[in-house]
Amino acid sequence: MMFAMPSHWRKELQLLLGAVLIAGLAGTLTGQLLPFLLLGLLVYLGWHLYQLARLPALLGQDGQGRPRPSGLWNGIIREIQEQQDSNRRRINDLSCQLDRFRDTVNTLPDAVVILDQSGRVDWSNPAAANLLNILWPDSQGRLLTALAPDPVLGEYMASGDFYMPLVITSPANRAKILSVFITPLKREANRLLVVSRDITRQYFLDTARRDFVANVSHELRTPLTVISGLAEQLNTSEPDLATVPRSTELILQQARRMSELVSDLLTLSRLEMQQDTAPDERVPVPELLTTIVEEARALSGAAQHVLQLDIRSNDGLRGNAKELRTAFSNLVFNAIKHTPDQAEVRVRWRVDHAGARLSVTDTGEGIAARHIPRLTERLYRVDASHSRDTGGTGLGLAIVKHVLERHEAELEIISKVGGGSTFTCHFPPERVISLL
Ligand code: ADP
Repeated sequence: MMFAMPSHWRKELQLLLGAVLIAGLAGTLTGQLLPFLLLGLLVYLGWHLYQLARLPALLGQDGQGRPRPSGLWNGIIREIQEQQDSNRRRINDLSCQLDRFRDTVNTLPDAVVILDQSGRVDWSNPAAANLLNILWPDSQGRLLTALAPDPVLGEYMASGDFYMPLVITSPANRAKILSVFITPLKREANRLLVVSRDITRQYFLDTARRDFVANVSHELRTPLTVISGLAEQLNTSEPDLATVPRSTELILQQARRMSELVSDLLTLSRLEMQQDTAPDERVPVPELLTTIVEEARALSGAAQHVLQLDIRSNDGLRGNAKELRTAFSNLVFNAIKHTPDQAEVRVRWRVDHAGARLSVTDTGEGIAARHIPRLTERLYRVDASHSRDTGGTGLGLAIVKHVLERHEAELEIISKVGGGSTFTCHFPPERVISLL
């Protein structure tokens, strides 16, 4: 295999040979071969020293445009410059990655803090200021437990057992609930990484869910206790025959209450599970309201409420007929339940440029202003005992609200104690359809 000599080495050898030849020729002609050869080599060495002295200038920023020496130095300079370029590119890449990392950490909504081995702040991102009261760089070197003086956090830090994340109130804002997750860094195990997240919404949702389950259990337990008490009385060898009809009636009534509650719960959970908007059925609202009012008349029975149906438009709605029927009948039946015998209940259907409106107005007991914003909460009742008497589950208006949300509609409640109430469903124009 032939050895291919790099071109700069070839040039260098030519240069050396040239110097030796010229010196040798001059030495031969003058009869002073050795001194001339020595002189030639000295000039060659001097030239190299000169190039060595020029090297930093040639490699510097303004050395780029200068003519490069030929021979070995050309190769060396090219090699070093290639190294410099590749280093510059690597530094650029690294600084881009660092910028991206810094940007990501700074944009994170979660607080990220690094603690040194004694629990003092080494570094933190901007979110740590809002959540943990840790402001970078002012808080550097300060103890985490001094900046967030929560005894629970103090105990947690002291225990050194970070297997389960901690839940605390934010030291920067008492209204916020935080989860705190601590772990040693992978490469520097004596430093700790603290990540804290705002879980306020989740926390209150969980609490509401827990309360709801407790309330539902309570609601079911009450009729169940009545039923089992009465059943025990009937189960004796000699039951008091005079009370049997009343007892069985009460058992039936309580069983009906339980079944209504379970059925409303199922409706509500079905509605909650369907996140999307209601499907596009053609719902003939005037027809639907006529049926509901007839049913309400039957429900009123001997109470003989005066039911007025005021249909001012033949238009209908795009939506789910079954859901709308549930919502509208809840409003009409509520009006009957909370209005004295023989009083008036008016159901009105109107459509104009702003959309469609279904309103149910009664002349009943009315509702105090402080209760109105809470009426659509699950199991909320103004007067629980009265509501139970009238067969209410406290879920009716929660169901109405859900159905309306799925139809992009809103519920408006106007009421005055002793002055009756008006419940209005506002539907947007896009939901209105002509039935002709
Ligand atoms: P309930 O099944 O108990 O009727 P709802 O969710 O339908 O539950 O209603 C919640 C509460 O709102 C009721 O307990 C009642 O106090 C009040 N309410 C609802 N409709 C009316 C109305 N038309 N007039 C007066 N109070 C009403």
